[in-house]
Amino acid sequence: MAANLQQLLKKHGVDFLRAAVQQLVGRPAAAISDDQQYRQLLIDPAWQAAPMQMRLFSPEGLHWEEFCFALRPRIFNLTGGTVALAPKWQTAASELADQFGTAVDRGSAAAPSASSSAVLAAGEKAPARAAAVGIDLGTTYSVVAHLDAQGRPVSIPNANGDILTPSVVLFDRDGTVVGREAVLAAAIEPDKVADCVKRDMGAKHYRRPIGGELLPPEVISSYILRRLKDDAARKMGNVSKAVITVPAYFDEPRRRATMDAGRLAGLEVLDIINEPTAAAILYGYQEGFLDRSGKVAGDRPLRVLVYDLGGGTFDVTVVEMSNQSFKAVATDGDVQLGGKDWDEKLVEMAAEMLVLELGDDPRNDPEALQDLWLTSEAAKKTLSERPKATLFVNYQGRRHKVEVTRDEFEEATAPLVLRTRTTAEIVVMQAGLTWADIDRVVVVGGSTRMPMIRRMLEELAGRAIDLTVSADEAVAHGAALYADLLLQKQGIGSGHTQFAVTNINSHSLGVVGTDPVTGRQLNRIIIPKNSPLPVAAARRFKTSQPNQPSVKVTVVEGESELPDACIEVGICVIRDLPPRLPAGSPVEVGYSYGENGRLQVTASLVGHEARVTTEFVRDNSLSDDDLLLWAECLSAEAERGL
Ligand code: ADP
Ligand code: MG
Repeated sequence: MAANLQQLLKKHGVDFLRAAVQQLVGRPAAAISDDQQYRQLLIDPAWQAAPMQMRLFSPEGLHWEEFCFALRPRIFNLTGGTVALAPKWQTAASELADQFGTAVDRGSAAAPSASSSAVLAAGEKAPARAAAVGIDLGTTYSVVAHLDAQGRPVSIPNANGDILTPSVVLFDRDGTVVGREAVLAAAIEPDKVADCVKRDMGAKHYRRPIGGELLPPEVISSYILRRLKDDAARKMGNVSKAVITVPAYFDEPRRRATMDAGRLAGLEVLDIINEPTAAAILYGYQEGFLDRSGKVAGDRPLRVLVYDLGGGTFDVTVVEMSNQSFKAVATDGDVQLGGKDWDEKLVEMAAEMLVLELGDDPRNDPEALQDLWLTSEAAKKTLSERPKATLFVNYQGRRHKVEVTRDEFEEATAPLVLRTRTTAEIVVMQAGLTWADIDRVVVVGGSTRMPMIRRMLEELAGRAIDLTVSADEAVAHGAALYADLLLQKQGIGSGHTQFAVTNINSHSLGVVGTDPVTGRQLNRIIIPKNSPLPVAAARRFKTSQPNQPSVKVTVVEGESELPDACIEVGICVIRDLPPRLPAGSPVEVGYSYGENGRLQVTASLVGHEARVTTEFVRDNSLSDDDLLLWAECLSAEAERGL
């Protein structure tokens, strides 16, 4: 599918032309008869008003000027010496668009094929040597890392020289900006900036309104990934392969959305890996357990609890480590809990103090609110070091000052700490262990710098926590080691890494069935949570009517018996059942969880030779067609170097 003006106008309509077209009405004839004026008054403003999906292409590529000039005599007339508009101008414009069906010239890009990964790979040059990066795509900050010539993981700084790139995207008229500049712009133009998009990943049909456009989270994330990819390319040459990390607690739709984002960014996603597992790999590497000679002391594996509290997500995982092997045994978490919630508490505290002082709530002013968020995050970091912090807020033309003490902050955020504590306790229990069995407590994620977190963990574990890995970089470094391991399996790795990783699923997987007694819909769990991956299980269903042509199976993730309390992963339709099949014929549905927590569903008709085909209906925010269209748009944008 190649995009052209005809398709784009069909999809988005021509209504965006309205303002530019109507403001010409009543002007002197020269406004449109003079090409230069027509350009200034119609062609350029109408392009600026076009939907973003269209503007991602170049106006030349879409033959925009040609279209507008051809439009001129069809919708305007000059009989009275001034510009008048034909009543059915929209129909005329749509009809004209039909003649603009020529594909956009995408330079050297290969012809797109039916597979989205092939489309995305188009235009990429083959890397000089096989290299892959590990990407920690964080809620608030992202990091990209690779292995140096000695096989050691190192972070790659961005163009600003920073290791951490804020996961924030500014959608500006002239293109997109990712990182520090986008954070600064957020204070001035909050409606053009997208942040914390990881929290929306995988949300069904969710679109973020940015600058009048509705953008899916995968697309916003792909801009962040592309920036990291470009930063890495400056150091390493072309980068096309990556491992991207996800919170262990991410469910299937969120994992799928993350892989889609990677592909949209033009990356071949070698795999996704759980963040705590990546951190554990790095820990094991630093402790020498990756090495053939590295020994884990004692006769049992070392049990490491990884506590990861980032900006927007929280994960706890227990990993068993022995020589060259990492085995996750239990995991839990919260994808809606992170440093941002601590910031929010400070925003609240400061705003309430200002309300008392001014009798007016600064949160009602979007710019002051943005200011509050920025100063709160800074104050939170200060409070990790000092007993007191000052917040500054610009509001109603004045700079206001608020002081918060660490004690006040800790008291206000105690319920958040407790939530993480409870989760950590549950994980240890689910691993079948007690705290005495945990050998090391490793912390990652910027929010673990808060003294309240460290204190709580030390109290819980009854031992000092291990601070040997970098809270910010451990995940990306572990991902880089894992990426190299995967390349090795393809025979193109560095030759330095060799280890085995066993993951577990973070959510139970079930199917919605009908209780034969009560007739109620129930979630029947097929693969329980914390099963070592890969894992496969099958279940038999019965056709309910004679001659039934198909069977529909609803696959859900979650622990509850009630399907509504679970996440619907998708619907599997088994079609083309053989004719004259009696009611009650058994159909076997098999589930298999890959090592990366991604799911596959297969089905067969028991006792029949005939192959039954299954179709996994995608039910997350982007359909395959949408994905393909976005891929087209984004790769065109990348070629133009936006
Ligand atoms: P994510 O991967 O979710 O983006 P990170 O692991 O990069 O998160 O952590 C970012 C979070 O850590 C932010 O909320 C940030 O404010 C917080 N953070 C960083 N340094 C500190 C500090 N010194 N004290 C408290 N919080 C911090
Ligand atoms: Mg993180």
